[in-house]
Amino acid sequence: MKAAVVSANNPGKVDIVDVGVPKLHAGQALVDIEYCGVCHTDLHVAKGDFGEVPGRIPGHEGIGIVKDIADDVTSLKIGDRVSIAWFYEGCGTCEYCTTGRETFCRSAKNAGFSVDGAMAEQCVVSADYAVKVPEGLDPAQASSITCAGVTCYKAIKVSNVKPGQWIAIYGCGGLGNLAIQYAKHVFNAKVIAIDINDDKLELAKEVGADLTFNPMNGDAGEWIHEQVDGAHAAVVTAVSKVAFNQAVNSVRAASKVVAVGLPPETMDLEIVKTVLDGIEVVGSLVGTRKDLEEAFQFGAEGKVVPIVQTRCLHEINDIFDEMEEGKIQGRMVIDMNKKC
Ligand SMILES: [Zn+2]
Ligand SMILES: [Zn+2]
Repeated sequence: MKAAVVSANNPGKVDIVDVGVPKLHAGQALVDIEYCGVCHTDLHVAKGDFGEVPGRIPGHEGIGIVKDIADDVTSLKIGDRVSIAWFYEGCGTCEYCTTGRETFCRSAKNAGFSVDGAMAEQCVVSADYAVKVPEGLDPAQASSITCAGVTCYKAIKVSNVKPGQWIAIYGCGGLGNLAIQYAKHVFNAKVIAIDINDDKLELAKEVGADLTFNPMNGDAGEWIHEQVDGAHAAVVTAVSKVAFNQAVNSVRAASKVVAVGLPPETMDLEIVKTVLDGIEVVGSLVGTRKDLEEAFQFGAEGKVVPIVQTRCLHEINDIFDEMEEGKIQGRMVIDMNKKC
């Protein structure tokens, strides 16, 4: 089968190669991949930012149809449409796995990093961890919800924003535009979208942002205080320390700032403001199986519509370049059946 693998010779790139079909073991299902979204995390994996993994098949926004199951599998049947997500599998028994926080399992496996992912014609999944895609959800759009969508949905859950309250979303790219949609159409919050790129702010308005601001024109925190007396919550998807700092300054007292983006920097956290205003800064990592099931369902109901563009497997390295140049609107999704 054809697969993308992390290149051993070209850091930050993948090679398209022919590899053997993965073998099915107990508890697993073999999936024919239909679509796989390209995420910034794949670029980190290809560059070795989380550790070198030459030969690994990336991809954790996979959607496909179950082709075969191991004899002991009862949670899936042949023909089911399922997801291959970053949270591939937890241990099932630790304090995180047993308390609804399974994505923090210290021995969790990650598709496309610690095990082979979905940038291939076929992939094996841990059957009990593969979330089914509901009827009525377009599979290319579902791929985008498998990582970007559920990450945003979970982050907004964590932010604790209430209907009618203001939430500031920093960064309006692949993650941010979904965060805006979940915040607006699922949580019924009022949304302020922040991005340094005017095109992305235009898109933010189209998908539901009430207010938009470009921090090239001033400090977003100050502007938000002038406009709405401070946001009730902020979610930062931007890959920039400046955005994290402005997010803390943009919220009102007793609010949460949820960190999602992964710039390789430290943020400044003014202790006096943090203490006197009771600010909570908290990280949020993808979502549990239950979060993904919910995030899919809101997609199937049309409340959230991921913006996707399908591409061919051979174009992954081009997509990585476009990603680094900040050119991508919405999400690029590899269509495994597309030939170019
Ligand atoms: Zn991802
Ligand atoms: Zn665990």
